[in-house]
Amino acid sequence: MKHIRLMAAMLLYMSAYAQQKDYPIQPVPFTHVNVNDNFWKPKMQVNADITIPYILKMCKEHGRIDNFLAAAGKRENKVCSEFPFDDTDVYKWIEGASYALQVSPNKKLSLYLDTLIAIIGAAQEKDGYLYTFRTIKPAVLHEWLGAQRWQKDSILSHELYNTGHLYEAAFAHYNATGKKSLLNIATKNADLLVKTFGWGKVEEYPGHQIVETGLAKLYRITGNKQYLDLAKFFLDVRGPNGESYNQADKKVVDQTEAVGHAVRAAYMYSGMADIAALTGDKKYLYAIDKIWDDVVNKKLYITGGIGATGNGEAFGEAYDLPNMSAYAETCAAIASVYWNSRMFLLHGDAKYIDVLERTLYNGLLSGMSLSGNRFFYPNPLASVGQHDRSSWFSCACCISNMTRFLPSVPGYVYAQNNNDLYVNLFMSNSSNIKLASGKINIAQITNYPWSGKIELAVNPEKAGSLTLHVRIPGWAQQQPVPGDLYNSINTPMTVSMLINGKPFSYKVEKGYAVIHRTWKKGDKVSLDLPMQPQKIFANEKVKADAGRFAIQYGPVVYCLEGPDNKDSLVQNIIVDKMAPLQASYHEDLLNGINTITGDGEASKRQLNSSDLITTKQKVTAIPYYAWDNRGSGEMEVWIPYTAVAARPQPAATIANKSIVTASIKSKSLKAINDQFEPADSKDNTVPYFHWWPKKNSTEWVVYDFDTAHTVSSSKVYWYDDGPWGGCRIPAAWKIYYKKDGEWIPVKTIGDYEIAKDKYNTVTFETVKTIALKLEVQLPVDNATGIHEWIVE
Ligand SMILES: [Zn+2]
Repeated sequence: MKHIRLMAAMLLYMSAYAQQKDYPIQPVPFTHVNVNDNFWKPKMQVNADITIPYILKMCKEHGRIDNFLAAAGKRENKVCSEFPFDDTDVYKWIEGASYALQVSPNKKLSLYLDTLIAIIGAAQEKDGYLYTFRTIKPAVLHEWLGAQRWQKDSILSHELYNTGHLYEAAFAHYNATGKKSLLNIATKNADLLVKTFGWGKVEEYPGHQIVETGLAKLYRITGNKQYLDLAKFFLDVRGPNGESYNQADKKVVDQTEAVGHAVRAAYMYSGMADIAALTGDKKYLYAIDKIWDDVVNKKLYITGGIGATGNGEAFGEAYDLPNMSAYAETCAAIASVYWNSRMFLLHGDAKYIDVLERTLYNGLLSGMSLSGNRFFYPNPLASVGQHDRSSWFSCACCISNMTRFLPSVPGYVYAQNNNDLYVNLFMSNSSNIKLASGKINIAQITNYPWSGKIELAVNPEKAGSLTLHVRIPGWAQQQPVPGDLYNSINTPMTVSMLINGKPFSYKVEKGYAVIHRTWKKGDKVSLDLPMQPQKIFANEKVKADAGRFAIQYGPVVYCLEGPDNKDSLVQNIIVDKMAPLQASYHEDLLNGINTITGDGEASKRQLNSSDLITTKQKVTAIPYYAWDNRGSGEMEVWIPYTAVAARPQPAATIANKSIVTASIKSKSLKAINDQFEPADSKDNTVPYFHWWPKKNSTEWVVYDFDTAHTVSSSKVYWYDDGPWGGCRIPAAWKIYYKKDGEWIPVKTIGDYEIAKDKYNTVTFETVKTIALKLEVQLPVDNATGIHEWIVE
C-alpha cells in the first residue's frame, strides 16, 4: 500500500514536471549563488542576525502570534492586533527565516519554525480555512469582515491576501527544509479555495492580490493543475465593474496603464507573468508589456520607486512624481523587483534588469536602516526632517516584506536557458550552476557598486561550448531607464571587455554582450563598466524635477543630506549643471560608501528684497539608500541648477527667528516659518504642519520671539487637502499675545478671514510682545494644517 502510494506520488511528480510549461529562462536559485562581497553579504548578515530575530520579537509583542494561538483555542477568544492582514507578517517572517536558513543553518531558528508552524496548523479550521480574525470568533467581528467567509474579500477582508502569503511562505519553507509541514497546511487551504471559487462557484476576485503568484508556486511544487486554473480564474474574474484602486475597473487583459494601489498592481502583474509563462497565454503578456511601458515611461522614480501618491498608496497621473510627498512604498519596490524579474524571464531582455537593479540599490534598499531595525514605509526623495525610519508600524507590511526579500537577492544574479547563461547583476560570488552541457562554476570578483571593474571566472567541469550573456547596464550607455523619462548628458561612455586579457568582438543583443565560444577551466572575462558621476535629467513633463538634476554613480542614485553639508542644510543648495563632480571612497562613512563632491552655492532670502544672497560652498552627496542613518534632517535627490528651483534659506523675519512650539509634537514645525510658498492649500510638495488625525479640538502654535517685537498683523496660509485628505481650513482661529506671562487676545481691526488657497490676514492694534499664539479651532470632522504663518 505504502509502495503504491509512493509510486503514485512519483508519477504525479514526474507528469507534473514533464508537462510543465514555465518561464523559458530560469533563475539560478539563490542557494547556488554564494555571495561573498562587501556590499550585499553584510546586509544579508544584518538581516539574519538582527532583522529576523527583531521582527519575530515585534510579531510576538504586537499580537501576531497570539492571534494564531487564540484561533487555535490556546488562549481567550480575543483578537490581539489591529488589522485582518496581520497574519501575513508571520507568513513573511517564515519566508525570510526559511530563506536565511538555506544560506546558513541555524538549529534554534529551525526548531522555532517547527513550533510556529504547529501553532499555525492548530489555528487552521478542519476544512482548511485559515484566517485568525474570523476563526478566533471574537465577540465583535472586525468591521472589515463580512458575516460569511470571503464576503468582503474584494473590498477589505484580505482573506485571500493572507492566503497568498501563506503559500509563498510554504513554498520557501518546503524548498529550504524539505519539510512538508507548512506546505500541507497551504495545500489543505488551497484545496478549500478550489472547492469554493471558480466559474459557477463563488465568482469573487481578491481585493489585495498575491494569491495568484502563491497558487502558481503551489502548482510548481505539487503539479496540481487545479491551483494553476484557480490562479487564472482569480485574474480573469477581475473587472470590469470594480474600482481602479485594486485594478478591477477593467478585465485584466484589457488593462494598459498602471493604476491604483501600487503593491496590489505589481503583485497582480507578477501573477499575470506567471500565468502567461505557465499557460502560454499571449493576452496576459500583451497587457503587462503595455503596462510596463506605461510605468517606465511615465510613473517611475529615478530611485526605482513606484506609486507616487499616498492617496490610495497608488500610482499617480503620468509624469506626476512629486519628491517630498513621494509615497514609493517599500513593498511596492519589492513588488516591482518581483515583476521585473519575471518580465526578464519571459523576454530575456536586460532592460527589465535595468529597472530591477535601479530599484534594488535605491528605492528598495532605503526601506531599511543600516542597523537593520528601522524602516521606511514611504521612501520620499526630499525631506526637511519630517521623515524618519520607524521601529514598527501598526501596518507592518513593509517591515516583514523586507526581511523576506533580502535573503533572496543572490537569486537575481544569474539565469539560464539550456546552454545560455545570463549574468544579470554584479556582486562578488562563487556559484555552481548546472547547464544542459554540464556543471560550471562561475565566480565574480568586484567592488561593485563602488567600482565598475568586474572579473568573471568561468570554470566548466569539462571544456564545452556555452553562450554567456553579460548584461551591459543601461546606466553604462547613458540610458538610465528604458524610455524617455530620464536622460543623461555626460560625455560618451565606453564599456570595455577582455577575454583572458585580450580584446575580442561580440555582438550586443537585448542589452547583453553575447559571447558564444568553447570555454575551458580558468577562462576569465574582464568587464570594465564606465563608472563616473552622471547627471540625470528628467523629462520636462515631470514638473517636480524642473531645473534640477540627480546624481548617479553606476546603479546608485545619490542625494544631498544635512550631515555632509554646511549648516546641515541642503534645500538651499544650487549646483551648476556643468559643475565637475568627483567620487571618492570613504570606508568609515555609513558602512563604506562612495561620496560625490562638487562646488555649489547656498542661497538665502533677505528682508525687503527679492534678490537672493548666494555663497559658494562645497557640496557632498551620499547614496540615497544610506540617508537617515544619522538622525532625521534635510535630504534632496533632485538638485537645483537654477535659483528658481532652489528653496533658499529663509530670511531673518520675526517668524523665522522665533522658536516654534505647538499643541502636539511634530517633526514638521519647521514648515510653519520656512518661507516656502505653496501653489495652493492642498500643495503637499512643500513642507506643511498638520494636526491630523485630531478633529473638533482647540489647538495652538506659539512663536517665542528672539526679542520683544512690535507687531500689528498676521497672516496664515492653511493646509487643506480635501476632499480626499483629512485636513480642512479651520472652523475658527484667533491670535493672542503674551503680556506678563498671560495670553491676551489681540484687538482685531476687521475679521479673521478663513479661506483656502491664499493667505488669511488679520490686522490688529499694535502690541509690543515677546510671543504670539495662534489658536485654531479644528472643524468637527477634520484636522487642519498650516503651510505658513507670517507675523508683521
Ligand atoms: Zn508596505
